Amino acid sequence: MNEWGSVVEHALKKQKVLVAGAGVSGLAAALRLEELCPEASIAIWEASPRVGGWIGTEVLDARELGSSYKGPLVVDLGPDSIVREEGKLPELIERLGLLGRIVETRKDRHGAYVVYRGRLTRVPRGFGLVGPGDPWAWLKEAPLSMRGRLRALAEPWIRPRPALARERGETLASFVRRRFGWELFEQLAEPLAAGIYGVGGEAIAIQATLPRFVEMEKTEGSVLLGLRKAQRSASKTEGARYGLFASFDLGMGVLIDACSQKLKGVIHLNRPIFKLEREGHGFIAVDERKESERFDAVIMATGARKAAGPLAALDLRLSELMGSIGHGSAVTVTMVWRREEIPHPLDAYGFVVPRVEGRRILASTWSSEKWPNRAPPDLVLIRVFCEGKGIDGRDDDLFVFEARRELADLMGITAPPRWSKVVRHEQAMPVYGPFHMKLRAQVEEILKAQPGLGLASNSLWGVGIPQAIRAGERAAERVSRHLKGLPPLSEVQE
Ligand SMILES: Cc1cc2nc3c(=O)[nH]c(=O)nc-3n(C[C@H](O)[C@H](O)[C@H](O)COP(=O)(O)OP(=O)(O)OC[C@H]3O[C@@H](n4cnc5c(N)ncnc54)[C@H](O)[C@@H]3O)c2cc1C
Repeated sequence: MNEWGSVVEHALKKQKVLVAGAGVSGLAAALRLEELCPEASIAIWEASPRVGGWIGTEVLDARELGSSYKGPLVVDLGPDSIVREEGKLPELIERLGLLGRIVETRKDRHGAYVVYRGRLTRVPRGFGLVGPGDPWAWLKEAPLSMRGRLRALAEPWIRPRPALARERGETLASFVRRRFGWELFEQLAEPLAAGIYGVGGEAIAIQATLPRFVEMEKTEGSVLLGLRKAQRSASKTEGARYGLFASFDLGMGVLIDACSQKLKGVIHLNRPIFKLEREGHGFIAVDERKESERFDAVIMATGARKAAGPLAALDLRLSELMGSIGHGSAVTVTMVWRREEIPHPLDAYGFVVPRVEGRRILASTWSSEKWPNRAPPDLVLIRVFCEGKGIDGRDDDLFVFEARRELADLMGITAPPRWSKVVRHEQAMPVYGPFHMKLRAQVEEILKAQPGLGLASNSLWGVGIPQAIRAGERAAERVSRHLKGLPPLSEVQE
């Protein structure tokens, strides 16, 4: 066959793409690829016996747990919400036809508590993760000494130094202490951030995790003034109608079910990728049973830690970079009680626990109060986040015991729960440390020399679900250009 003939043959051949990992980023990647290259054949290799990765929901029969009402009890085992970015949900949700199934956090329970000197105390109105947005509420309500409150309010007079965050990988701890003082950091910013990132504020870089606050320091000269401005404009626009957080009527599993149903590609469960090698313009993927297959393009959506091994034969430097991203662990204990067994009014979404309080738990979400229809009116669903240290060596019973002891002390709950479930999220959350931005730039550079390879997951471009979806979709866009013989876009995945 002449050269032209082989080009035509190549064009007519059904191109094969592998997506390794069926978490939300892998599913989003596969769906986007099906839209962009409907002629391609997509295989998804998933290491575990189920799809969804960290996302999963268990739906129980409330009657069986002592409720007088018929209906479901919805337990999210991993994430329980999607954070709206600039007021918007990922487009994927609309494309899946799920807008009608979105639920908002309950307005009548809005707010959170923080443990202060052994007691639950309200987080002041307007507090925006790293600093106060409502100075008067802060002055009256902040769970800090008067000196600590005044120090935080002096923030607009602190010289802005955004270059520390942008160029020197300043940590969240350093940023918040510098702008608002150590008391606010220890008592509020760190426990709230630990609830999101699973590690302390010393471990994560502010620019890589919460760049909007660095931007406020740069443009407004003050985070407090930036927060006030953002909160004022949010109350005038859509932000007032829709809260920051959203979920689905039957929990986050709805998103995974909808993705799986829409996918045409074949999902191979219990098939972990073991090795990835280059072969000409394509790849050879080897699974754990040493069975190999050729693909024209590959999207790794396993998360950085699990991608490092398979990538070693393809590009050692890329494998090292991915393997160098640390991960935080957590254990969640979800419990169910009858409402009359809870002496606390449950007038918030839950509480966080500063490290200085020296307790065994990090936070608690009052799921049945945070979301509508998670439980019937006579049942209460509470989730407790325990530290991930010693995750292997401890029995489930011990985690339940510790969670119950803390809830008894803080909320007066002494009755045994009617149901409990312990989930171990081992090395689940990527830690964006001080060198993360540099690492990310290096990975993006390597990707330019690896046509047909896409990286998804929440390891590099943001730790939350919207960012994981976006990383998956951008990996699909990159790979689709390769399949169509188009040059890559100048920006890689940003
Ligand atoms: C306890 C907890 C609470 C969270 N809460 C929230 C929240 O409320 N809101 C939010 O936005 N985010 C939250 N997150 C983060 C969110 O869960 C992640 O952003 C998202 O699930 C990441 O999806 P992913 O597809 O990138 O990775 P994963 O979910 O980790 O999926 C990766 C998949 O790859 C598979 N895999 C691994 N190795 C291989 C291999 N060798 N071959 C093939 N497959 C492999 C895994 O089995 C898994 O299915 C939370 C995370 C945790 C742990």
